[in-house]
Amino acid sequence: MQQYRPDTVCIHAGYTPKNGEPRVLPIVQSTTYRYETGEQMGKLFDLEEDGFFYTRIANPTLDAVEKKIAALEGGVGAMLTSSGMAASFMATFNICPTGSHIVSSNAVYGGTFNLFNKTMREMGIETTFVHPSATKEELEAAFQENTRAVFCETLSNPSLVVTDLELFAQVAHEHGVPLIVDNTFPTPINCRPFEFGADIVVHSTTKYMDGHAVQLGGVIVDSGNFDWTNGKYPALTEPDESYHGITYTKQFGKAAYITKARVHMMRDLGAQAAPMNAFLLNLGLETLALRMERHCSNAQKVAEFLEKHPKVSWINYPGLASSPYYQLAQKYLPNGSSGVVSFGVKGGREAASKFMSGLKLASIVTHVADLRTCVLHPASTTHRQMSDQELLEAGVKPDLIRFSVGIENPNDILEDLEQALKQV
Ligand SMILES: *Cc1c(COP(=O)(O)O)cnc(C)c1O
Repeated sequence: MQQYRPDTVCIHAGYTPKNGEPRVLPIVQSTTYRYETGEQMGKLFDLEEDGFFYTRIANPTLDAVEKKIAALEGGVGAMLTSSGMAASFMATFNICPTGSHIVSSNAVYGGTFNLFNKTMREMGIETTFVHPSATKEELEAAFQENTRAVFCETLSNPSLVVTDLELFAQVAHEHGVPLIVDNTFPTPINCRPFEFGADIVVHSTTKYMDGHAVQLGGVIVDSGNFDWTNGKYPALTEPDESYHGITYTKQFGKAAYITKARVHMMRDLGAQAAPMNAFLLNLGLETLALRMERHCSNAQKVAEFLEKHPKVSWINYPGLASSPYYQLAQKYLPNGSSGVVSFGVKGGREAASKFMSGLKLASIVTHVADLRTCVLHPASTTHRQMSDQELLEAGVKPDLIRFSVGIENPNDILEDLEQALKQV
């Protein structure tokens, strides 16, 4: 396909109908695919030929959406999963076996923190957490001989820390391990982490990519750039007995990691996305560029309004010059960060609760990054499993209000904020 610009890629990549075929990506609601000979089917099972045989491994609707997202991020391949959590787990577990170690930013989604800090620890995979603003020396100090991956978020949920991706990638590569980046908040419209040295990208597609809050999903994208043959990844460079001794790096080259994710992780863990969900996600992707532009311009207006408001005690939006992450945002997110603004209301927790109940247009929901403006108090909801100390270390102040600016008319959002702040 010709090299189109991102907004065109959003609409056209991944699916090109042939003569007489449906113009819109069809939902292939079939678990299985028919072949004329058993021999053909056998070749598919041995990964000797490309083709669909069982939807847990691959499905034509999913395949089209995977190709679109890979094109948007600039990767060699992608794999959809049933949720963002499944994507983060499989992206790390694919290369971090029991006995290995991960270096992760501590400013990550609450669920991801739990996954690393509890579940994967119970599986014998240790994680050392670092601050996303860590210096090179601080990052280096977190590495161990058995470290196999570095993990961070481009723009953290909900503290909105912009990570210095080039620094994280540099230190990861100096230690012979890949950088995995959760790029959920900026989306590839606002940041393409591969351009800054990231090796693997994951998303919760539940958020902006879908944008309408209608499906739960995740995706793993492989840049194809990491060299797995440095001796640290035998699962990729030595024969896989469960696939008749194929060696992923030999047989699949640049797509070794994403192929193993599919035929090993997805085959055995089975957190596959549903074709209907992939269809819905694709509808969201078609308007992603348009929506992100509006989310960002609306959020900038909201941030500027809140910054001047006497009842607001503090605010962080990377598009404000007062944000500690403004410089990093100028570098990594020049088109805007996202629609999410975090701030505190004078009077702490109680005032926050009063303010939130007073909102009429914005609704209190767990969700974020939706086209409808929504609001949440993370310390008492999504991040409640973290101790006060862990919250502070992750930059989530106890009074932090996460305000996810939608694509409504900005004046209606500002008026809603004004009337709710009056009630505090
Ligand atoms: C929501 C979210 C996740 C988890 O995704 P689910 O689709 O809810 O499983 C992971 N990372 C970030 C940054 C998120 O916002």
